[in-house]
Amino acid sequence: MDNKLNSGYRYIFGPVPSRRLGISLGVDLLPAKTCTLDCIYCECGRTGNLTLERKEYVPVEKVKSELRDFLSQGPKLDFVTFSGSGEPTLHKQIGDLIRFLKSEYPKYNVAVLTNGTLLFDPEVRTQVLDADVVKVSLDAGSAENFIHINRPHQALEMSRIIDGLISFREIYSNQLWVEVFIVKGLNDKDTELKRIRDILKLVRPDRIHLNTLDRPGTETWVEPVEESFLTDVAGYLCNARVVDKPDTSGKISGTDFREFIISTVKRRPCTAEDVSLILNIHENDAKKHLDKLHENGEIKKISMPRGVFYFLKRERES
Ligand code: SF4
Repeated sequence: MDNKLNSGYRYIFGPVPSRRLGISLGVDLLPAKTCTLDCIYCECGRTGNLTLERKEYVPVEKVKSELRDFLSQGPKLDFVTFSGSGEPTLHKQIGDLIRFLKSEYPKYNVAVLTNGTLLFDPEVRTQVLDADVVKVSLDAGSAENFIHINRPHQALEMSRIIDGLISFREIYSNQLWVEVFIVKGLNDKDTELKRIRDILKLVRPDRIHLNTLDRPGTETWVEPVEESFLTDVAGYLCNARVVDKPDTSGKISGTDFREFIISTVKRRPCTAEDVSLILNIHENDAKKHLDKLHENGEIKKISMPRGVFYFLKRERES
Protein backbone atom coordinates (compact mmCIF):
# COMPACT_ATOMS: atom_id res chain seq x y z
CA MET A 1 0.00 0.00 0.00
CA ASP A 2 0.92 3.66 -0.25
CA ASN A 3 1.57 5.18 3.13
CA LYS A 4 -1.81 6.83 3.33
CA LEU A 5 -2.22 10.01 5.29
CA ASN A 6 -5.05 10.17 7.76
CA SER A 7 -5.44 13.50 9.46
CA GLY A 8 -8.11 12.06 11.76
CA TYR A 9 -5.52 10.39 13.98
CA ARG A 10 -4.84 12.04 17.28
CA TYR A 11 -1.93 10.11 18.72
CA ILE A 12 -0.04 8.92 15.66
CA PHE A 13 1.44 11.16 12.98
CA GLY A 14 3.34 10.98 9.73
CA PRO A 15 4.88 8.82 8.45
CA VAL A 16 7.70 11.34 8.11
CA PRO A 17 11.21 10.98 6.69
CA SER A 18 13.44 11.07 9.75
CA ARG A 19 17.09 12.05 9.61
CA ARG A 20 18.08 9.10 11.76
CA LEU A 21 15.38 6.48 11.23
CA GLY A 22 14.26 6.59 7.60
CA ILE A 23 10.47 6.53 7.16
CA SER A 24 9.02 6.75 10.61
CA LEU A 25 5.48 6.65 12.00
CA GLY A 26 5.37 8.91 15.06
CA VAL A 27 3.48 8.10 18.25
CA ASP A 28 2.87 11.06 20.56
CA LEU A 29 1.92 10.02 24.10
CA LEU A 30 1.83 13.41 25.79
CA PRO A 31 -0.22 16.60 25.69
CA ALA A 32 1.84 19.34 23.98
CA LYS A 33 5.05 20.20 25.78
CA THR A 34 4.87 17.93 28.78
CA CYS A 35 8.49 17.24 29.57
CA THR A 36 11.10 16.77 32.29
CA LEU A 37 13.26 19.43 30.58
CA ASP A 38 12.72 22.83 28.98
CA CYS A 39 15.61 22.90 26.50
CA ILE A 40 16.59 26.25 25.07
CA TYR A 41 16.81 24.75 21.57
CA CYS A 42 13.55 22.76 21.69
CA GLU A 43 11.74 23.01 18.37
CA CYS A 44 8.38 22.50 20.10
CA GLY A 45 8.46 25.72 22.12
CA ARG A 46 8.56 26.21 25.90
CA THR A 47 7.65 23.38 28.22
CA GLY A 48 4.25 24.25 29.66
CA ASN A 49 4.16 21.26 32.00
CA LEU A 50 7.62 20.67 33.50
CA THR A 51 7.09 17.47 35.45
CA LEU A 52 8.50 14.14 36.60
CA GLU A 53 5.08 12.60 37.16
CA ARG A 54 4.54 9.40 35.23
CA LYS A 55 0.95 8.63 34.38
CA GLU A 56 -1.41 7.65 31.57
CA TYR A 57 -1.38 11.07 29.89
CA VAL A 58 -3.34 9.82 26.89
CA PRO A 59 -5.57 6.71 26.87
CA VAL A 60 -3.44 3.73 25.97
CA GLU A 61 -6.35 1.83 24.39
CA LYS A 62 -7.02 4.70 22.00
CA VAL A 63 -3.37 4.79 20.99
CA LYS A 64 -3.50 1.04 20.31
CA SER A 65 -6.67 1.46 18.31
CA GLU A 66 -5.05 4.08 16.03
CA LEU A 67 -1.93 1.94 15.65
CA ARG A 68 -4.07 -1.10 14.75
CA ASP A 69 -6.06 0.92 12.24
CA PHE A 70 -2.94 2.17 10.46
CA LEU A 71 -0.55 -0.76 10.79
CA SER A 72 -3.11 -3.37 9.75
CA GLN A 73 -2.88 -1.83 6.26
CA GLY A 74 0.77 -2.93 6.11
CA PRO A 75 2.38 0.46 5.42
CA LYS A 76 5.99 0.66 4.29
CA LEU A 77 7.84 1.95 7.32
CA ASP A 78 11.33 1.74 8.76
CA PHE A 79 10.27 2.52 12.32
CA VAL A 80 7.39 3.19 14.65
CA THR A 81 8.81 5.91 16.86
CA PHE A 82 7.74 7.20 20.25
CA SER A 83 8.50 10.90 20.00
CA GLY A 84 6.44 14.06 19.59
CA SER A 85 6.25 17.21 21.63
CA GLY A 86 7.23 15.91 25.07
CA GLU A 87 9.13 13.19 26.95
CA PRO A 88 7.59 9.82 25.97
CA THR A 89 8.81 7.90 29.05
CA LEU A 90 6.58 10.12 31.20
CA HIS A 91 3.74 7.95 29.90
CA LYS A 92 3.41 5.14 32.42
CA GLN A 93 2.22 2.59 29.86
CA ILE A 94 4.94 3.10 27.26
CA GLY A 95 6.19 -0.43 28.04
CA ASP A 96 2.75 -1.87 27.38
CA LEU A 97 2.64 -0.11 24.00
CA ILE A 98 6.11 -1.30 22.98
CA ARG A 99 5.16 -4.90 23.89
CA PHE A 100 1.92 -4.51 21.92
CA LEU A 101 3.83 -3.41 18.82
CA LYS A 102 6.48 -6.11 19.11
CA SER A 103 3.91 -8.89 19.57
CA GLU A 104 1.21 -7.81 17.09
CA TYR A 105 3.37 -6.06 14.45
CA PRO A 106 6.81 -7.70 14.78
CA LYS A 107 7.87 -6.66 11.29
CA TYR A 108 8.16 -3.04 12.41
CA ASN A 109 11.15 -1.71 14.32
CA VAL A 110 10.36 0.37 17.36
CA ALA A 111 12.34 3.42 18.46
CA VAL A 112 12.05 5.57 21.56
CA LEU A 113 13.41 9.12 21.30
CA THR A 114 13.89 10.13 24.91
CA ASN A 115 15.89 12.72 26.78
CA GLY A 116 16.98 9.86 29.05
CA THR A 117 16.32 11.77 32.26
CA LEU A 118 14.03 9.09 33.71
CA LEU A 119 16.28 6.11 33.06
CA PHE A 120 17.50 6.32 36.66
CA ASP A 121 14.14 4.67 37.45
CA PRO A 122 14.43 0.85 37.12
CA GLU A 123 10.79 0.64 35.97
CA VAL A 124 11.46 3.00 33.04
CA ARG A 125 14.59 1.04 32.10
CA THR A 126 12.62 -2.20 32.02
CA GLN A 127 9.75 -0.69 30.05
CA VAL A 128 11.89 0.40 27.10
CA LEU A 129 14.06 -2.74 26.96
CA ASP A 130 12.15 -4.24 24.02
CA ALA A 131 12.62 -1.21 21.75
CA ASP A 132 15.00 -1.79 18.84
CA VAL A 133 16.51 1.67 19.24
CA VAL A 134 16.59 3.93 22.26
CA LYS A 135 18.01 7.35 21.49
CA VAL A 136 18.87 9.53 24.47
CA SER A 137 20.16 13.10 24.69
CA LEU A 138 23.35 14.28 26.34
CA ASP A 139 24.10 17.96 25.82
CA ALA A 140 26.10 18.79 28.91
CA GLY A 141 29.21 17.51 30.64
CA SER A 142 28.66 19.70 33.69
CA ALA A 143 25.71 20.36 35.96
CA GLU A 144 26.05 24.06 35.14
CA ASN A 145 25.53 23.54 31.41
CA PHE A 146 22.79 21.00 32.08
CA ILE A 147 20.89 23.77 33.85
CA HIS A 148 21.71 26.39 31.18
CA ILE A 149 20.89 24.27 28.15
CA ASN A 150 18.26 21.82 29.34
CA ARG A 151 16.59 23.80 32.16
CA PRO A 152 15.57 20.62 34.00
CA HIS A 153 12.85 19.99 36.54
CA GLN A 154 14.31 21.08 39.88
CA ALA A 155 14.36 17.53 41.28
CA LEU A 156 16.55 16.19 38.46
CA GLU A 157 20.24 15.69 39.19
CA MET A 158 22.71 15.25 36.40
CA SER A 159 24.80 12.66 38.25
CA ARG A 160 21.72 10.50 38.79
CA ILE A 161 20.81 10.76 35.12
CA ILE A 162 24.30 9.66 34.04
CA ASP A 163 24.13 6.71 36.46
CA GLY A 164 20.76 5.82 34.90
CA LEU A 165 22.23 5.83 31.40
CA ILE A 166 25.13 3.63 32.49
CA SER A 167 22.77 1.19 34.25
CA PHE A 168 20.55 1.07 31.18
CA ARG A 169 23.48 0.25 28.90
CA GLU A 170 24.35 -2.67 31.18
CA ILE A 171 21.00 -4.36 30.54
CA TYR A 172 20.12 -3.10 27.05
CA SER A 173 21.54 -5.12 24.19
CA ASN A 174 19.75 -3.40 21.28
CA GLN A 175 20.83 -0.11 19.71
CA LEU A 176 21.53 2.66 22.21
CA TRP A 177 22.17 5.98 20.48
CA VAL A 178 23.17 9.25 22.10
CA GLU A 179 22.51 12.62 20.51
CA VAL A 180 24.64 15.59 21.53
CA PHE A 181 23.22 18.99 20.63
CA ILE A 182 25.94 21.63 20.38
CA VAL A 183 24.99 25.22 21.24
CA LYS A 184 27.44 27.95 20.29
CA GLY A 185 29.06 29.54 23.35
CA LEU A 186 27.70 26.97 25.82
CA ASN A 187 28.85 23.39 25.29
CA ASP A 188 31.35 23.97 22.47
CA LYS A 189 34.39 24.60 24.70
CA ASP A 190 37.22 22.07 24.96
CA THR A 191 36.69 21.45 28.68
CA GLU A 192 32.99 20.77 28.23
CA LEU A 193 33.52 18.54 25.20
CA LYS A 194 36.09 16.54 27.16
CA ARG A 195 33.59 16.02 29.99
CA ILE A 196 30.96 14.89 27.47
CA ARG A 197 33.46 12.50 25.92
CA ASP A 198 34.29 11.05 29.35
CA ILE A 199 30.59 10.42 30.03
CA LEU A 200 30.14 8.83 26.60
CA LYS A 201 32.97 6.42 27.35
CA LEU A 202 31.08 5.27 30.43
CA VAL A 203 27.72 5.00 28.67
CA ARG A 204 29.18 3.10 25.67
CA PRO A 205 26.45 3.91 23.11
CA ASP A 206 26.33 2.11 19.77
CA ARG A 207 26.13 5.43 17.97
CA ILE A 208 26.71 9.07 18.77
CA HIS A 209 24.89 11.71 16.74
CA LEU A 210 25.90 15.35 16.74
CA ASN A 211 23.39 18.05 16.05
CA THR A 212 23.10 21.82 16.12
CA LEU A 213 20.33 24.32 15.56
CA ASP A 214 18.89 24.20 12.04
CA ARG A 215 15.26 25.15 12.69
CA PRO A 216 13.71 27.67 15.07
CA GLY A 217 14.46 26.84 18.70
CA THR A 218 12.59 28.03 21.78
CA GLU A 219 15.04 30.83 22.56
CA THR A 220 15.85 33.15 19.68
CA TRP A 221 19.37 33.83 21.03
CA VAL A 222 20.43 30.18 20.57
CA GLU A 223 23.01 29.95 17.79
CA PRO A 224 24.26 26.97 15.79
CA VAL A 225 27.93 26.09 15.43
CA GLU A 226 29.57 25.83 12.00
CA GLU A 227 29.25 22.53 10.20
CA SER A 228 33.05 22.23 9.99
CA PHE A 229 33.21 22.58 13.77
CA LEU A 230 30.63 19.79 14.15
CA THR A 231 32.73 17.57 11.91
CA ASP A 232 35.80 18.23 14.08
CA VAL A 233 33.86 17.50 17.26
CA ALA A 234 32.50 14.31 15.68
CA GLY A 235 36.05 13.02 15.30
CA TYR A 236 36.89 13.99 18.86
CA LEU A 237 33.79 12.32 20.32
CA CYS A 238 34.75 8.77 19.35
CA ASN A 239 33.65 8.84 15.71
CA ALA A 240 30.30 10.50 16.20
CA ARG A 241 28.12 11.18 13.16
CA VAL A 242 26.83 14.58 12.21
CA VAL A 243 23.06 14.43 11.73
CA ASP A 244 22.38 14.93 8.05
CA LYS A 245 19.42 15.41 5.74
CA PRO A 246 16.31 13.21 5.92
CA ASP A 247 16.29 9.86 4.16
CA THR A 248 13.64 10.23 1.49
CA SER A 249 13.88 6.77 -0.03
CA GLY A 250 10.28 5.98 0.83
CA LYS A 251 7.74 8.64 0.05
CA ILE A 252 4.13 9.04 0.87
CA SER A 253 1.15 10.38 -0.93
CA GLY A 254 -2.13 11.93 0.01
CA THR A 255 -4.38 14.84 -0.75
CA ASP A 256 -5.59 16.22 2.56
CA PHE A 257 -2.80 18.77 2.52
CA ARG A 258 -4.26 21.37 4.83
CA GLU A 259 -4.94 19.01 7.73
CA PHE A 260 -1.71 17.14 7.25
CA ILE A 261 0.45 20.24 6.99
CA ILE A 262 -1.12 21.69 10.13
CA SER A 263 -0.66 18.46 12.06
CA THR A 264 2.98 18.30 10.89
CA VAL A 265 4.02 21.88 11.67
CA LYS A 266 2.18 21.65 14.98
CA ARG A 267 4.86 19.24 16.15
CA ARG A 268 7.89 20.86 14.61
CA PRO A 269 8.69 23.83 12.39
CA CYS A 270 9.18 22.76 8.75
CA THR A 271 10.52 24.30 5.55
CA ALA A 272 8.70 23.94 2.22
CA GLU A 273 11.37 21.35 1.34
CA ASP A 274 10.59 19.31 4.49
CA VAL A 275 6.88 19.35 3.65
CA SER A 276 7.51 18.48 0.00
CA LEU A 277 9.50 15.41 1.06
CA ILE A 278 6.82 14.27 3.49
CA LEU A 279 3.94 14.80 1.05
CA ASN A 280 5.84 13.65 -2.02
CA ILE A 281 4.93 16.80 -3.92
CA HIS A 282 7.04 19.42 -5.66
CA GLU A 283 8.62 21.98 -3.35
CA ASN A 284 6.82 24.82 -5.19
CA ASP A 285 3.47 23.14 -4.50
CA ALA A 286 4.38 22.66 -0.85
CA LYS A 287 5.27 26.35 -0.66
CA LYS A 288 1.96 27.27 -2.28
CA HIS A 289 0.00 25.33 0.36
CA LEU A 290 2.12 26.73 3.19
CA ASP A 291 1.80 30.32 1.98
CA LYS A 292 -1.95 29.94 1.67
CA LEU A 293 -2.18 28.74 5.27
CA HIS A 294 0.08 31.62 6.27
CA GLU A 295 -2.08 34.16 4.42
CA ASN A 296 -5.14 32.76 6.20
CA GLY A 297 -3.39 33.31 9.52
CA GLU A 298 -3.42 29.59 10.31
CA ILE A 299 0.35 29.22 10.56
CA LYS A 300 3.34 31.53 11.08
CA LYS A 301 6.70 31.72 9.36
CA ILE A 302 10.21 32.79 10.26
CA SER A 303 13.45 33.08 8.24
CA MET A 304 16.44 31.03 9.39
CA PRO A 305 19.82 30.34 7.74
CA ARG A 306 18.44 26.99 6.42
CA GLY A 307 15.38 28.69 4.90
CA VAL A 308 11.90 29.83 5.84
CA PHE A 309 10.27 27.71 8.55
CA TYR A 310 6.52 27.43 9.01
CA PHE A 311 5.05 26.69 12.43
CA LEU A 312 1.96 27.09 14.59
CA LYS A 313 1.92 30.17 16.82
CA ARG A 314 3.65 29.29 20.06
CA GLU A 315 5.32 30.89 23.06
CA ARG A 316 8.57 31.46 21.14
CA GLU A 317 6.87 34.41 19.42
CA SER A 318 6.06 36.31 22.56
S1 SF4 B 1 14.10 19.06 23.20
FE1 SF4 B 1 13.09 17.21 23.94
S2 SF4 B 1 13.78 17.02 26.03
FE2 SF4 B 1 14.19 19.12 25.46
S3 SF4 B 1 12.37 20.25 26.07
FE3 SF4 B 1 12.06 19.64 23.95
S4 SF4 B 1 10.90 17.73 24.09
FE4 SF4 B 1 11.83 18.10 26.12
